[in-house]
Amino acid sequence: MRTSIDVHHGDGVFYPYESDPDLIAIDIHEDGNYLYPGTGHAHEAGKGEAEGTKLNIPMKPRAGDRDFAAAWERAEDHLRHHKPEFIIMQAGADGLAGDPLADLRYTPAVHTRAVKSLLKLAEETTSCRMMVFGGGGYDLNNIEAAWTALLQEMARLLRPTAAGSPACASDEAHWRNRSCACRHHSGLDPRLSVCLRG
Ligand SMILES: [Zn+2]
Repeated sequence: MRTSIDVHHGDGVFYPYESDPDLIAIDIHEDGNYLYPGTGHAHEAGKGEAEGTKLNIPMKPRAGDRDFAAAWERAEDHLRHHKPEFIIMQAGADGLAGDPLADLRYTPAVHTRAVKSLLKLAEETTSCRMMVFGGGGYDLNNIEAAWTALLQEMARLLRPTAAGSPACASDEAHWRNRSCACRHHSGLDPRLSVCLRG
């Protein structure tokens, strides 16, 4: 399952999977009538066998956190209905207010809400198999704010346990290998990982 909150629809990977029933997709983006690439309309729900596996939610310009919250409720319903086996989150920061390329008005609370919700769903449905990618963002302060909020939430949930190994937490190479969400450091599961390369 791929879910994207990047302000642009699809980021190049929606249509290659449009007829693939094995990829559940949720894409919350600025309405294509107002922003490149002009796609991602609500009626685009997948083709053929994949009909109903894709959820596109276009947001009007100036949509903010309250609008996102309503959209996210639909996203959660879609996720629970399809019971994904693996979750990929594309956490673009270009939906935040002030991004020079787009027109939404999110705050970093959107990133916190989405990742918290997905981690919980990952626990419930995927045995915690989940990856997070950064995605777009064209205002440096917004990128810092959004991804810091996201990582803070993940760090809070992946806090060391009483049985944790201090050596593991201080081993930078271990983090680079994205394997530090080990059973000692995860309140959830060792398979969670983070990548902020867009
Ligand atoms: Zn984008």
